[in-house]
Amino acid sequence: MLKSGATIGIFGGGQLGRMMALAAHRLGLNTHIFCPDPNSPAFAVTPHKTIADYEDFAALSEFASKVDCVTYEFENVPAATASAIIEAGTELFPSAKALEISQDRLVEKRFISTVGINVAPFAKVDSQAELEAAVSKIGLPAVLKTRRFGYDGKGQTILRSDEDTKTAFNAIGSQPAILEGFVPFDREISVIIARDQHGHVAPYDPAENVHENHILKTSTVPGNISSELGEAAKNIASQIAIALDYVGVMGVEFFVLPTENDEQLIVNEIAPRVHNSGHWTEAVCIVNQFEQHIRAVAGWPLGQADRHSDVVMENLIGDQINEVTTAVESNTQIHDYGKAEVRAGRKMGHINRIFPKNSDQ
Ligand code: AMP
Repeated sequence: MLKSGATIGIFGGGQLGRMMALAAHRLGLNTHIFCPDPNSPAFAVTPHKTIADYEDFAALSEFASKVDCVTYEFENVPAATASAIIEAGTELFPSAKALEISQDRLVEKRFISTVGINVAPFAKVDSQAELEAAVSKIGLPAVLKTRRFGYDGKGQTILRSDEDTKTAFNAIGSQPAILEGFVPFDREISVIIARDQHGHVAPYDPAENVHENHILKTSTVPGNISSELGEAAKNIASQIAIALDYVGVMGVEFFVLPTENDEQLIVNEIAPRVHNSGHWTEAVCIVNQFEQHIRAVAGWPLGQADRHSDVVMENLIGDQINEVTTAVESNTQIHDYGKAEVRAGRKMGHINRIFPKNSDQ
């Protein structure tokens, strides 16, 4: 259990690293950010930093010697980087296994199905011939996704016709991929869950998420989610966290699929880190996702994940950040990530609009 004054190392200096660092420092813990980008927004909130490539092993070994444990803000931490930390005798949370599973959509889908949880039908695709076989098995429409490095809809394409089947593998760069059956979902929801080093879990209420141009736009809590469906989603998130022997905060994204007289949950993906669709917890939860993650990796007990208000989180993308300080309503919290450069499609900040609990929205 880390004591006041201990240091948590964080891979990644973006907004998630910055928000984790802010939470840690409030608890009396230091952070040391490791990131190759000298303009990282997280560098503004802690004096301890390493600017180096993730595969600079001399820099990694020095970093590991200066910190008491290591965590990360993104799932694409290379396996060799994670190993370097562990070999240096420094603990890594969440584990290298959580990284390995969430970095590869095929491994992830196989793992989630092994736990007994519904995912879209899927098949491995390493070649045009395998794509054709996968289409025969799964049918159309379907979604072809690269196994690695896909986010915000990048590295994926929808197949609706035989013509698409001929061009899709080439269109995603002929990389190792999976084909997924297209899920005609009604809504997308997510559950943010924390698990501590003693196995206690704390799921947050599910959020209903709306995307624009493949980027998360809003998360609304409570969303259009019945209490039974919400409990089922929390339960699934707990099962995944337990199966992974997970430590830290994890995001689980679901599709809500209408069935004849009910609704079904299908897991789309897991993220072994604090998650954009959990930024609402910052404004309306007793302990928010960033503090909860720091508590878990520090070996502290979790705090309550309960929500005291209703909330709508809205991402500020690109130049939307420039309008917010003057136009914001009085029930709204603003979070500006302090990024040096405004770019189209870049997440620059978010706002949380807070309403009395159970209000009509
Ligand atoms: P992902 O990168 O897997 O999170 O996918 C990005 C978005 O594409 C999701 O939020 C969905 O809106 C859509 N999508 C992904 N997979 C499927 C699927 N199997 N069926 C329908 N829509 C999907």
